Amino acid sequence: MSKPKTWGSDYVPEYDIFDMHSHPGFEKKGIADRPGCSNGWLSDRSWFMDIRSALGYPDPYKQLTSIDQIPDFSVDHWLKHMEANKISHMVLCGMDTQSDPPQNWRWLVSNDYIKTEFIDKYPDKFMGIGGINYRLGPEVAIKQVEDAAKHNFLGIKIFTSHGGPPNDKVKCYPLYERAQQLGLHVEIHTGVETVPGFRLKYTDPIFIDDVATDFPDLKIVQLHCGFLQNPQIAIVNALTNPNVYTDVSICFPTWMHLKYFSDFDHFRTIEHFIPDKIFFGTDFPLSLPIYRPLVDHIRLMPLHADFKKKLLRDNARKFFLGDKA
Ligand SMILES: [Zn+2]
Repeated sequence: MSKPKTWGSDYVPEYDIFDMHSHPGFEKKGIADRPGCSNGWLSDRSWFMDIRSALGYPDPYKQLTSIDQIPDFSVDHWLKHMEANKISHMVLCGMDTQSDPPQNWRWLVSNDYIKTEFIDKYPDKFMGIGGINYRLGPEVAIKQVEDAAKHNFLGIKIFTSHGGPPNDKVKCYPLYERAQQLGLHVEIHTGVETVPGFRLKYTDPIFIDDVATDFPDLKIVQLHCGFLQNPQIAIVNALTNPNVYTDVSICFPTWMHLKYFSDFDHFRTIEHFIPDKIFFGTDFPLSLPIYRPLVDHIRLMPLHADFKKKLLRDNARKFFLGDKA
């Protein structure tokens, strides 16, 4: 009789996972050019404490005061992390957004940076989603969509908590039309946000249904599945609209036990209603300290093994890799 597998550190999962939601930009190289990433490291915000702690910073709760003190986080750390956690691919989100005055909080991770530093170097591991600043109006934003296509990115991202509702016919719809023409899908943020200047009223997943109805041929990825705001409607969006998919970022199984998000009821409902339209994503590196427990949490849930494989790997491979899967 063979020895049963255990969940200790020597456990090797039988298949690699696919993480379709991550955020480059926090790496030290050139970070001064990426507002939101640089000033995030220097703030007392809890999500940066998590990154510091995961990178082995001696006192993660101590606030950094200069860029020199930032741990030497680089694309090499991404690769080590992927190897250690058996991740085959990661999808990288560009960001270009700014909140209203008086906060004026800017978060910029340019599409050029993602292409040059990640995708050009490791094309078999990374894929890009273009960050679009639709607050600047369709003329500028359409150019960003076209640049994303030129970079061979797979889609564009709409960051609603600063930008406004994604069913805005003037600011957003021309972008969706152009994305569709160029063969790009659209990723739309839903659920609560904590970056400075966020407005929760724009992040309700209820708007996704409107966009999906008006653009039935546009593939839409609903990010965060309405996290802590309206996960039920988020599931319904994917159930009733053939063109809507969703991820489950960000799961916090070891931090807090959330009811109605990434708990058993949530996953069981997803398994029942939308087993082929769900993707695993993490918001890495923001989830770095708990990455392995997060994956193990899903692997250990009493859900069907085939569904877990769809969630952790197969659905995303089909959607993001297509023929290359
Ligand atoms: Zn994200």
